[in-house]
Amino acid sequence: MADEKFVLEIEKKVKDTIFKYRLLLKRDKIIVACSGGKDSIAVLYLLKKYGYDVSALILDLEIGKWSLRNLDNAAEFCRENDIILHRIFAKDEIGCSIEHVMSCVKAKSGVENCTVCGVIKRWIINRKARELGADKLVTGHNLDDEAQNIFMNILKGNPMLSAGLGPKSGVGAQDMFVQRVKPLYFCTDAELRKYTEIMGFKILYSKCPLSSAVFRRDIKNCLDDFEKSYPDVKRNIVRKYLEMKPALVKACRGKIKRCSVCGEAARGDVCKACEMMGIVKLKDDK
Ligand SMILES: [Zn+2]
Repeated sequence: MADEKFVLEIEKKVKDTIFKYRLLLKRDKIIVACSGGKDSIAVLYLLKKYGYDVSALILDLEIGKWSLRNLDNAAEFCRENDIILHRIFAKDEIGCSIEHVMSCVKAKSGVENCTVCGVIKRWIINRKARELGADKLVTGHNLDDEAQNIFMNILKGNPMLSAGLGPKSGVGAQDMFVQRVKPLYFCTDAELRKYTEIMGFKILYSKCPLSSAVFRRDIKNCLDDFEKSYPDVKRNIVRKYLEMKPALVKACRGKIKRCSVCGEAARGDVCKACEMMGIVKLKDDK
């Protein structure tokens, strides 16, 4: 009974977030960026349950058994729940393995694997979602992810980077982006773990073996520690950020350009992904 109540609470919270922030419409063609992890499976399940026109986009990074098992779980879930699945391969999109990009970028500029992977994944998925004619691109980001991002941007000394966060991300240049939305925005990591366990979804809960996000891990541990003494600290960070977001967006307006290499949105002349792929090319040319 307690489980039943918990499940209903989570499902209501996601539904309320969708309505309050006008994230999705029933006529939208929705693509869910699906890794096979607990968050993307939960959001895929809930949107299908609520009757949205939803399909899944899986980007196969081909990084060994861990990613294969995740993708198999996602494929099985889509089959069982009658969800169309688009599977694409990172190698086909960038001409080399994601691990090669990670090692080149790390050697040249010390950027962590997870940052490189995040930038390249977002770049490919954004382009693919547009090619597939999506109106909305759904990601499984949760409250913990968002609080970490906001806090990380402050500690990096660049709070303006947070302008693009929020349940509906982006700061303009919308013709270049498929609108990205986060229905799990107010669900915590722990809640989603519990929810997916109760629902009995087949999920791998272990971390990516290539994960090396030291900074993010430190921020995560720090926020988890804080929360033990100051309950709701993550929720407060996110709540305050949402109050400030309009001012941040206003300050960023007009600063988003088109990347001179790939035509995607960029803060400078070249987008982060092209900057990284440039490092790979430079290395190959030597
Ligand atoms: Zn670019």
